[in-house]
Amino acid sequence: MLLKNIDNPDSADINVYKNSGGYSSLLKALELQPKDIIEEVQKSGLKGRGGAGFPVAMKWSFAAADPKFPKYLLCNADEGEPGTFKDKIILEKNPHLLIEGMIISGYALGAECGYIYLRGEYPKSRDILNKAIAQAYDDKFLGNNILGKNKKFHLSVHFGAGAYICGEETALIESIEGDRGQPRIKPPFPVNAGVWAKPTVINNVETLSNLPYILEIGGEAYSKIGTPECPGPKLYCVSGHVQKPGVYELPMGTTLREIIFTHCGGIKDNGKLKAVIPGGITTPILPPDKIDCPMDFASMPKYGSMLGSGAVIVMDETVCLVKVCWRALKFLEHESCGKCTPCREGTGWLRKILERIENGNGSQEDIGLLLSISSNMMGKTFCPLGEGAASIIQNFIKHFRPEFEDHINKKKCSVRI
Ligand code: SF4
Repeated sequence: MLLKNIDNPDSADINVYKNSGGYSSLLKALELQPKDIIEEVQKSGLKGRGGAGFPVAMKWSFAAADPKFPKYLLCNADEGEPGTFKDKIILEKNPHLLIEGMIISGYALGAECGYIYLRGEYPKSRDILNKAIAQAYDDKFLGNNILGKNKKFHLSVHFGAGAYICGEETALIESIEGDRGQPRIKPPFPVNAGVWAKPTVINNVETLSNLPYILEIGGEAYSKIGTPECPGPKLYCVSGHVQKPGVYELPMGTTLREIIFTHCGGIKDNGKLKAVIPGGITTPILPPDKIDCPMDFASMPKYGSMLGSGAVIVMDETVCLVKVCWRALKFLEHESCGKCTPCREGTGWLRKILERIENGNGSQEDIGLLLSISSNMMGKTFCPLGEGAASIIQNFIKHFRPEFEDHINKKKCSVRI
């Protein structure tokens, strides 16, 4: 569905996309009333693929019902979570799928203007998107009078400066408005007071790219794919020690075991699985006995983790998990926007303690200190970044405490890195 045609030569070109049936769902959508499109999405059961898994139709209906005008549609293409590269394949190989999805969504919401907020590290994606948008304007899929149907939608790319926090929806809004990308307090929620205080829907690239397919087969048929609670196809991007890393489109709810051992060919060089981070670096790490979990929003919490972005990071026994934990904290300390003290200071303290354990200078008190600082951060930070950092510590120690103790007792790493 989402990865259909990506292996075709010039798959980003509008003619290649149209020849494979592209933009026919938009034609269908323009014959419907906006409320009928929202109803179809409601029937599909589509949940946002950015990590939170919020029902898309519900978010849309809040914005559609708000009488303020204009309304905006923002596509969150700030794909900055370490291990996550699933949206990039759509942006670069199938940009018209996203554009078609955005025009359909904009029409359903009553938004006549949309922005794709693209992460600053994706200049190639920016150039491909800009070319695709220009083609869509030339073919009258975008503009003031779409296909002569008296409907309007304008779209452009907003290129970010490369700050991880701008993937958080209110920081993204601040950045689009030209301010420093820091999260806003909620409520008010963006659906009622988002960009320039107008009703704003923010959906991720993968989410919006599902729209043409939902319109093509109908919400009812779509809801039969995946699991009843979390329907649809899902892009899982797998990196680390597997035979065949890459992006896999599979039904929502495929187990981690099937992803790793069937689709990715198992552990590289016949190695032994040590740990999996299932949904991007801030989702709780899992030991090998938990890999029978179905990868969907509803099942993962039952196994002590989260689906997140669906970015699976697989590690074999050669990996030092203290080092992985330290590197994750180093990243989050660097990306902390500094707005709130528990995150600004806490990520730095945690990183320093991990660094000394990793370097063989840790003391017996350090594990308790890590747990104490991180539990004091939980629930006290302004946005999920600080809590994500704290949860990394808690989960690494919960499942792999002996490895931390070994570093402290032996004053070195016993694992080959
Ligand atoms: S939790 Fe961190 S990133 Fe989020 S607002 Fe606070 S300082 Fe900024």
